[in-house]
Amino acid sequence: MSNTFTVNNPATGETLATITRNSEEEINKALQTGHEAFQSWKKTNAHERSRLLEKWSQLIQKNKLEIATVMTKENGKPLAESIGEVDYATSYIDWYAEEAKRLYGRTVPAHVDGKRLLVSKHPIGLVAAITPWNFPAAMMTRKAAPALAAGCTFIVKPAEETPLTTIRLTELAHEAGIPTDVIQCVNGKGRIVGKVFTDSPLVKKLTFTGSTPVGKALIKASADTVKSVTMELGGHAPVIVAKDADIDKAVEQTIITKFRNAGQTCVCANRIIVHESIVDEFSTKLAEKTKQLVVGNGLDENTDVGPVINEGSYEKIVHQIEDAVTKGAQVLAGAEYDVDENKKCFFVYPTILTDVTDKMEIMHEETFGPVAPITTFSELDEAIKIANNTPYGLAAYFFTNDYRIGNYLFDNLDYGIIGWNDGAPSAAHIPFGGMKESGLGREGGTEGIEPYLETKYLSIGNLID
Ligand code: ADP
Repeated sequence: MSNTFTVNNPATGETLATITRNSEEEINKALQTGHEAFQSWKKTNAHERSRLLEKWSQLIQKNKLEIATVMTKENGKPLAESIGEVDYATSYIDWYAEEAKRLYGRTVPAHVDGKRLLVSKHPIGLVAAITPWNFPAAMMTRKAAPALAAGCTFIVKPAEETPLTTIRLTELAHEAGIPTDVIQCVNGKGRIVGKVFTDSPLVKKLTFTGSTPVGKALIKASADTVKSVTMELGGHAPVIVAKDADIDKAVEQTIITKFRNAGQTCVCANRIIVHESIVDEFSTKLAEKTKQLVVGNGLDENTDVGPVINEGSYEKIVHQIEDAVTKGAQVLAGAEYDVDENKKCFFVYPTILTDVTDKMEIMHEETFGPVAPITTFSELDEAIKIANNTPYGLAAYFFTNDYRIGNYLFDNLDYGIIGWNDGAPSAAHIPFGGMKESGLGREGGTEGIEPYLETKYLSIGNLID
């Protein structure tokens, strides 16, 4: 295998950079340095770590436009979305800079006179992270910030499609004064770097965001060294639109959750389940708005939807649309494509499909593209059954103004993240993560630092003779 790879702009096919893959030896050396650095980093006081994280966040903000432009070039998303992602990425650093100062332990009342029982929190050790291409900045900081705040050292392997943002963020961390062996970035094939990470007893924690099959393989591979794992995996988000819903609001929010990042997010709406009495109005309005979305290069100011990341993604999306249409789905918008002659750039026009049934693949497989399939329900329990009929359990959305329906749906949907009249529920201060095969653990919020901590308990005896 070549020891370099190129990073390409998915909107133009232009080569942006050639990156050297680190050898296994180099990665093992980086793990050794990260492990050694842990011995001193864990002793820095929480306020000092907090200040360094603040400085890192400020430097990223200072270079926001440059980072966002790099992100748009390597990922394809519209520049406004990349700018939004830089803000989202620093919001994790800001949140965990504060949480570093709140890693409280506790004192437990003793069961024996004269004893004192103390519980305290300690950093787990060297953390290895593997991140995806769809949010190259935020998926890195959502892991790095709590790890560093906890007193762990950190090493990240970004996706080969989008390493440039992560490399730049790592440089800025060093510029902020975080030691070079406390936060490191290595590059290479996921399978190879992943094996070095999972095989190494020096790595105490593996945190991964990506597909469910790769997540399962990493969980298995982590067993031999009994590594702690956090997994943020695939999703297949349902959107339930109840018969009393505010249709315009539901349409507006569905557009946000469906077409952001060209539908390439793990919390993207994937199955739209609409009450039969309003499906015509909802679908027509959704299609009208969808047709107004401008598809193009993310650097053009007017662009709403960029290219999809690569040929593999494109083929999967087209296959799902064709499968649905062959089985009877109607196309209200999209199902059109634009591929350049060199087969390097792949654009899928935002697509609305109606009359979608359970027999179609799109109802069972994550699409990761700008396609909204609409199906119907008559009784609420039927909608819940359709929504839960998947091994995934990451995000779900519903629209209703009836508090009884809302609470019933919240209680019965097997999902870790739920938006009620809200297509954009994610934030640094909330726990993000999935149930079932969508993952293990949570990132963000007070929960998001726990995976980087060990709990130690001290029992002091004989305080009184
Ligand atoms: P996607 O389908 O979104 O590309 P992947 O799970 O394939 O999702 O990729 C997410 C991240 O996992 C990327 O950094 C990729 O390089 C890495 N990766 C891919 N395959 C493996 C593997 N077998 N072991 C470890 N990491 C992997």
